[in-house]
Amino acid sequence: MKRILVTGGAGFVGSHLCERLLNEGNEVICLDNYFTGSKRNIEHLMDHNYFELVRHDIINPYMVEVDEIYNLACPASPVHYQHNPIKTVKTSVMGAINMLGLAKRVGAKILQASTSEVYGDPNVHPQTEGYWGNVNPIGLRSCYDEGKRCAETLFMDYHNQNDVKIKIIRIFNTYGPRMHPQDGRVVSNFIVQALQGDDITIFGNGTQTRSFQYVDDLIEGTHRMMNSRDGFIGPVNIGNPIEFTMLELAKEVIDLVGSKSKITFLPLPQDDPLQRQPDISLAKKELEGWEPKVHLKEGLKHTINYFDKLLKE
Ligand code: NAD
Ligand code: UDP
Repeated sequence: MKRILVTGGAGFVGSHLCERLLNEGNEVICLDNYFTGSKRNIEHLMDHNYFELVRHDIINPYMVEVDEIYNLACPASPVHYQHNPIKTVKTSVMGAINMLGLAKRVGAKILQASTSEVYGDPNVHPQTEGYWGNVNPIGLRSCYDEGKRCAETLFMDYHNQNDVKIKIIRIFNTYGPRMHPQDGRVVSNFIVQALQGDDITIFGNGTQTRSFQYVDDLIEGTHRMMNSRDGFIGPVNIGNPIEFTMLELAKEVIDLVGSKSKITFLPLPQDDPLQRQPDISLAKKELEGWEPKVHLKEGLKHTINYFDKLLKE
């Protein structure tokens, strides 16, 4: 049995990860400041003997004896990370320093949840890990993009300078149950709008693309990365390479919900990337043939069921 710290464990992805780690017989310490996460996401784990919940903000140091750390704490939706951009940078940078310091002190292995946003508005397509990205350092998205880039730098430096055992994953757009209904990300927005019969809000003309990964596939990839061979530290892309335009996504959601919602077009936010698609060759090679299994239609159905129940409560 391992003792594992999951920062951001009460969030969308973190709650699924805590569940998986507990089911495997590990002891899990879930740390969160509840900025975008909630106790509700993990309430089904509360009675578990080996689950512990800690309210803490990772911009402050935290000490605990653990074998592994999954560092997920950070708001992920543009609406949330732009709410308090300075805090977002602090969470990524000071949070990484605090968690890396902890890993160094107790000899824990630590995994960083980085993001496809490190590629910015990419001019290489699909994105491979060797691409350095095209990020605006002073735009609305910079607090998140540059914060995550700096966190990657810190991970590499703690590894090179202090032999900390690290793993870095770059997560591409992921969706599924337990996303916050007011999260602001496109999948949750479209589903909630379609279920409520509201207009579907497409930003720009809807030709921009994203590649959507269902949360179960992300959890599998993340887990395999933490347990990958010692010499492999990444960064590695974890995402679903099947690319969709936002118009295609809107139509699919309307269709699956059977909604009468109309599509409406709103201005495209500043620095919104035009396209995004992961090259997952490295993940396939290093993570025992890992690849996404859940098709968009199937994943959307699970997510629609989740939001349908939630909105009826
Ligand atoms: P989320 O907002 O649902 O979860 C983030 C969690 O971190 C929340 O529970 C929040 O309360 C907590 N948190 C935020 N700031 C904190 C702080 N200072 N101290 C302690 N806890 C804090 O988002 P998510 O989609 O679950 O994302 C999880 C991680 O994965 C994030 O690091 C995100 O950047 C990364 N990621 C997610 C996606 C995606 O599409 N879901 C894509 C790329 C990267
Ligand atoms: N988007 C949209 N309508 C919405 C929310 C988002 O058209 O209600 C667009 C957004 O402009 C972007 C894409 O959907 O082009 C994905 O946005 P999201 O915030 O989910 O993720 P990110 O931009 O961080 O990839």
